[in-house]
Amino acid sequence: MSLWFFSEEEKMLAESVKAFAQSELLPKIEHLDEIESFNAPAFKKLGNMGLLGITVPEEDGGAGMGAVAATIAMEEMAAVDASTTLSYLAHTILCVNQIGRNGSKEQKQKYLPKLISGEHIGGMGMSEPGSGSDALGMLTRAERQKDGTYKINGSKSWITNGPNGDIFYCYARTGATKKDVSTFIIEKGMEGFTTGKKFKKMGMRASPTGELWFTDVMVPGANRIGEENASVKAMMRNLDIERITIAGISLGSARNCIEVATQYCKERKQFDVPIGAFQQMQERLAEATAWYEACRALTYQAAKTWDMGLMQGKEASMMAAKAKLQAAQMATQVGLDAIQILGGYGYTREFPVERQMRDAKLIEIGAGTNEILRLIIARQMLGTDVADALMK
Ligand SMILES: Cc1cc2nc3c(=O)[nH]c(=O)nc-3n(C[C@H](O)[C@H](O)[C@H](O)COP(=O)(O)OP(=O)(O)OC[C@H]3O[C@@H](n4cnc5c(N)ncnc54)[C@H](O)[C@@H]3O)c2cc1C
Repeated sequence: MSLWFFSEEEKMLAESVKAFAQSELLPKIEHLDEIESFNAPAFKKLGNMGLLGITVPEEDGGAGMGAVAATIAMEEMAAVDASTTLSYLAHTILCVNQIGRNGSKEQKQKYLPKLISGEHIGGMGMSEPGSGSDALGMLTRAERQKDGTYKINGSKSWITNGPNGDIFYCYARTGATKKDVSTFIIEKGMEGFTTGKKFKKMGMRASPTGELWFTDVMVPGANRIGEENASVKAMMRNLDIERITIAGISLGSARNCIEVATQYCKERKQFDVPIGAFQQMQERLAEATAWYEACRALTYQAAKTWDMGLMQGKEASMMAAKAKLQAAQMATQVGLDAIQILGGYGYTREFPVERQMRDAKLIEIGAGTNEILRLIIARQMLGTDVADALMK
């Protein structure tokens, strides 16, 4: 259902993504989840639909829409297939949006056309084997050479689209302190750049996750985004839009689980009555839909606030953190409740709820764990003197 502030364009987007998900994702996701494989043809079709550059301005070849639209796309796709949606997010928000937002004219002209058409698949490399929550603890180093190129050594871990990607928006340390971080566009095929192992996962199994390895990779200076040692602010801002739009994936997963569980409560009979007649089933359904609607209102409010530029800095980060923290927890719990409502069938792969629950759990970890998001919110409420007093 549309929220009151959705534009006509956003309402039409919801309808077209819904139709795409039914025709291109639904018939394949059960099998792709089983064999842990990526839906490459569907991805290409997203390019044909103009959705791979959804937040990029029209003059740069994108759809010229915003965070509300991107969140709608996430919700509608994830209501069928959350893992292809995660790959879509990594490409569209973590890579394409960032090049569109932070790249130079030349970088946009060079990289965006093939990323937006779907000829190239994008990803983003921030996390490393030893630094996830402590992102600034990254060890990957880029050393500037006399001729202006950079020599990069290190590795990235858990990178969505790592095994199948072509272009990566990567962060590396370029100075002496933790805040001396720069951004580079890394291309598949650069000498010394390899993708390591593909992870086997509990959920999000149709979204390939892997490692990136850098061994003396020589990267042209032209591939550096922005100034040297000046990426931390943009990195944090990128995390905000990632958190808002990834909350859309939680919304889609939860909605799917609520719809399936509601139908099941009407059809399944025990003791000669539909199980929906039992008050304990009604309680689970009622709590699920109320929590989902609350998270939906919060997430789209955060997206709209982002689009209108109403909040900046720490205030914007807190809003994004609140939306993702609640939506992610809600979707996992709603998934578990749907499994419980479906009983034995819920635990099998006859219904999508067990897959949706496995997928939903990831959102409590990726793009900032629940714990880190609580920390961001508490620091803003209490100030760091109080919130971090035990760490001093
Ligand atoms: C499927 C998948 C896809 C991903 N995709 C990408 C991607 O495309 N690009 C990318 O860069 N990264 C990606 N990630 C990485 C993801 O962002 C990290 O896994 C996440 O930030 C957590 O880091 P970590 O796994 O190192 O956990 P850790 O940071 O080691 O945390 C372990 C535990 O300690 C807790 N903890 C840590 N610090 C604190 C603290 N200060 N206070 C309280 N508790 C704390 C955490 O909440 C967690 O429960 C992905 C991960 C997965 C699983």
